[in-house]
Amino acid sequence: MMNDELRKALLADNCLDEIIGQDAAKNQLKSALLAERNAIIIGPPGIGKTTLAKNVAKLLPETTVNDCGFNCSPSEPVCPGCKEAEKGRIGKKKSKGIQRFIRLQGSPDLTAEDLLGDIDPIKALKFGPTSLEAFTPGKIFKANNGVLFFDELNRCPQRLQNALLQALEEKKVTLGSYTMDFDIDFIFIGTLNPQDSSTEKLSDVFLDRFDLVYMTYPESHEIERQIVLAKGKKMGQAEFPGQLLDFCVAFVRALRENRKLEKLPSVRATLGLYERAQSNALIRRHRTVEQEDVKDAIISVLAHRIGLKPSARYVLGPEEFIKEELEDFVLQEQHNKGDGR
Ligand SMILES: [Zn+2]
Repeated sequence: MMNDELRKALLADNCLDEIIGQDAAKNQLKSALLAERNAIIIGPPGIGKTTLAKNVAKLLPETTVNDCGFNCSPSEPVCPGCKEAEKGRIGKKKSKGIQRFIRLQGSPDLTAEDLLGDIDPIKALKFGPTSLEAFTPGKIFKANNGVLFFDELNRCPQRLQNALLQALEEKKVTLGSYTMDFDIDFIFIGTLNPQDSSTEKLSDVFLDRFDLVYMTYPESHEIERQIVLAKGKKMGQAEFPGQLLDFCVAFVRALRENRKLEKLPSVRATLGLYERAQSNALIRRHRTVEQEDVKDAIISVLAHRIGLKPSARYVLGPEEFIKEELEDFVLQEQHNKGDGR
């Protein structure tokens, strides 16, 4: 999978710049990929794990592949169809890196067949059970010569984890009813959400095959502000004062430090406040977004994005909690200003 072109792309400055900040995580991921190791990105939801993995796929050089469902390279085909066909008889297509980005969502229902492929019983009757015509390649083949992005690995059953391991270790897929192995090669990037407790535990044997890359919430106020301005929708004409944006960013960041919370708001919450406050200003026909526009968005944007620890949960609900925190925060801000800080 690794070649000079990709190595050069990974070593270029700012090569993963679709994510603002996260320099430590980017360097860890680059380092893991350069060493041709399988990576798992660990971090809470909404911090850009998918974007980062997609960014890797975009670094892959454009290539020509056979139009066979296995992304075979014309010079070294892996699927029996391409191997048996006379050269030049199989259609070819240009494939950009991002077209070889395949996302798989971990879930308890996911089967090894989703990953590896399946035999269509009707076609099997027609062409024979071991015929390639009867086989529908799974996601792993679509990711051949590309990136397999496996989101929330810890949500899928053990049996599937084992099937995945075999493919990663041997770069081969063996399918039950076929006598041949399929050679495959791809970059593997998985994710884990450490806050998700309703999941299968990953065994030590499994984790031993991966390097972990840790992502966190934006490292600084300034970086989060940049993210909001870069990714947030700018709606209508309402002007968003810089100070008020700082207020939104600071409030969400303060919630992340709050000891009563076990589920913390992601950047999506900050983006939500930014966008919804603008909508509220438009509805009120304000030319400038005001603090009340932010206040009116706060419950709808934040209350479900936080989770109180059990000890706090008995005392009050998330809506009341957010309201109280906001009042305290506004008072604190006024106090700080009064101090000339
Ligand atoms: Zn092929």
